[in-house]
Amino acid sequence: MHLLTKTLRYLAFLMPLVFVMACSQDETPTTTPTPTTPTSDTTVPAVYNKIYGATSITSDGTFITIKTKGVPDHKSPYYPSGNSLYIAYTGQTFGGYNFAKNPNSIVEQSAIYKIPINPKAATTKSATPLGRIGVALNGVPFFNQYAGPNNQELTGEIASFDQFYGHPQQSGVYHYHVEPLHLTQVKSTKSGLMGFLMDGFPVYGPQEENGTTVTNSSLDVYHGHTHATVDFPAGIYHYHFTAVAPYLNGNGYYGTPGTISQ
Ligand SMILES: [Zn+2]
Ligand SMILES: [Zn+2]
Repeated sequence: MHLLTKTLRYLAFLMPLVFVMACSQDETPTTTPTPTTPTSDTTVPAVYNKIYGATSITSDGTFITIKTKGVPDHKSPYYPSGNSLYIAYTGQTFGGYNFAKNPNSIVEQSAIYKIPINPKAATTKSATPLGRIGVALNGVPFFNQYAGPNNQELTGEIASFDQFYGHPQQSGVYHYHVEPLHLTQVKSTKSGLMGFLMDGFPVYGPQEENGTTVTNSSLDVYHGHTHATVDFPAGIYHYHFTAVAPYLNGNGYYGTPGTISQ
C-alpha cells in the first residue's frame, strides 16, 4: 500500500479518539490541572556570547558559567619562541615605559568563571583579590590595580606589559591590569564591551559611546557608574578602563562576586 494512503487511514482511525478525548476534557471542568514545576530559563543572553575566547558558556538561570583557557588570541613576546603567536618586542609600552620582559611565559590554564546573571549592588562591598577578578572577551583574565599583597603599587610591573598591555605572572597566567589593546583596537572599540568582573557587572573601554574619554572623576570609588549602553539599553552599572590608576577597579566589587574554579 502507498505510504500516504496508509498514513491517511491511520489518521482517520485516530480522529474519533481525539474527538472523544477533547469532549471528555470539556465535560470535566472541575479537574485541577497538575501544576508543573517552573523551569528556570537557561538561555544564555546574547551579550555573553561576545566572550569569543570562551570554550563554553552556559547558564543555570542564576549564574553564567564561562570556561576558558586564558591564553591570548594575539601575539606576545611571552609565548614560547616556538609558538606561532610568539613575536619579539622592543619599544614603549603602557605609560611610556620602555618594555622590559619579565622572566615568565604564557601557560594554558583552566579557569571557570561563575558570575551572577542579574548583578546587583552589594550592601557591603568586598575588596577584589590578587589574581583573577574577571574575564575579557578573549578569555584572558582581568587583574586588579595591585602588584602584590598589602596593595603594592603596579608601578614596577608596568614596564613588563607587552605591546597589547598584558603579561604573565609566575605560573604563566597571562592577564590585563589596564586597557587590553587587542580588544579596543582590533576586536571591539574604545567604547565597546571588554568583558565582565566577577560580580557580573560589565567592563567597558576607556571611552563612552559619544567618544568622550572616561576619567576617574566621572566614576565612583569602585571605578564605575550607571547609564545605558549598546548592550544594556535599559541602563546598567559598569566599570571603565582609564589611563591612570586604578585603571579598572577601585575600592572593590560594586556587586557580590561569583566564584572561580579550575
Ligand atoms: Zn600583573
Ligand atoms: Zn560609562
